[in-house]
Amino acid sequence: MNGFEQVVGHKKVIAHLQNAIRNHTVSHAYLFDGEDGAGKNLVAKVLAATLQCEAGGTEPCGQCRSCLQMDTGNHPDVFWVTHEKSILSVDDIRTQLCDPMSILPYSGPKKIFIVDEAEKMNDQAQNALLKTLEEPPEYGLIILLTNNSETFLQTILSRVVRLPFLPAPHEDVVHFLMEKKKLPDYRAGLVAMLAGDNPGRALALSESEEFQAQKDEVVSLMKGLRNMGAEKRIATTKTLVERKADLPDYLDLMLVWVRDLLYYKAEPKKARLMFAAEKDAIAEESEYYTFETLSRFVAEIEELRAKMKANVNPEASVWTMLCHMAEQTETRYE
Ligand SMILES: [Zn+2]
Repeated sequence: MNGFEQVVGHKKVIAHLQNAIRNHTVSHAYLFDGEDGAGKNLVAKVLAATLQCEAGGTEPCGQCRSCLQMDTGNHPDVFWVTHEKSILSVDDIRTQLCDPMSILPYSGPKKIFIVDEAEKMNDQAQNALLKTLEEPPEYGLIILLTNNSETFLQTILSRVVRLPFLPAPHEDVVHFLMEKKKLPDYRAGLVAMLAGDNPGRALALSESEEFQAQKDEVVSLMKGLRNMGAEKRIATTKTLVERKADLPDYLDLMLVWVRDLLYYKAEPKKARLMFAAEKDAIAEESEYYTFETLSRFVAEIEELRAKMKANVNPEASVWTMLCHMAEQTETRYE
């Protein structure tokens, strides 16, 4: 098991935790608050490993018995609270956290409970947890992980140290994808951007074959925009509507394409293209469009995205967008 260096982003959170370890001021309860995929589980795991490590540093040593037990997921004093139903019930919290907390640790200095998806605790479960939070034993540590801290009772929030997990810096996510998935830089950049710089989501996206296929389809759609007659428009509308669930991803990719054209038009030599593998096509396409036209494309795509969120009829909306975009390209030759 490696240390905090494998976490993408969250430098402030890690510095805070390592300071607390150094100064022996580690709290009895933390709330890691941020999107799914941000890295909360990983930070919780490294924190637990560090606190249990026999070497007693600010990183797990990776070699002692405790660290090896963490590696295999068999540490006798680190627990992941799980739930079978869609909520974390009062029984889950009592049997997996409150009751075992009252028993001394088996071998480590601490007894650590990590509650993933803690927002799924109902009020009863939160009240049961509250009792333990009010009088935690010296050795006890509770780490709550959540993507929505608004669901917690104020009494819980006032007894935990809340650490926000913000999106990682874009370059860090790009670097992570290049290292871990061996992606070329342009592709890592595109994936990171589409994932909103969320490392977990970026990882999932980079592994998705569907994503590759979507990308190819969008490139072919955007290249064909100039010569898109009525028949092709009908077929494309049909294709896009059939993939309704993926339509937001398609629209994101379309936006990236249009932005690439804009960047290339502005600075053909220096433009850092997301679709770098399509550089020749982008160079050619950018000749056919004015800045104004491309800006309208952005507006059209954004408008369709807003309509999809508002559940407007997708068929009519996609059709309208394609017609508007195709018209834009025709007027130039009139
Ligand atoms: Zn160790």
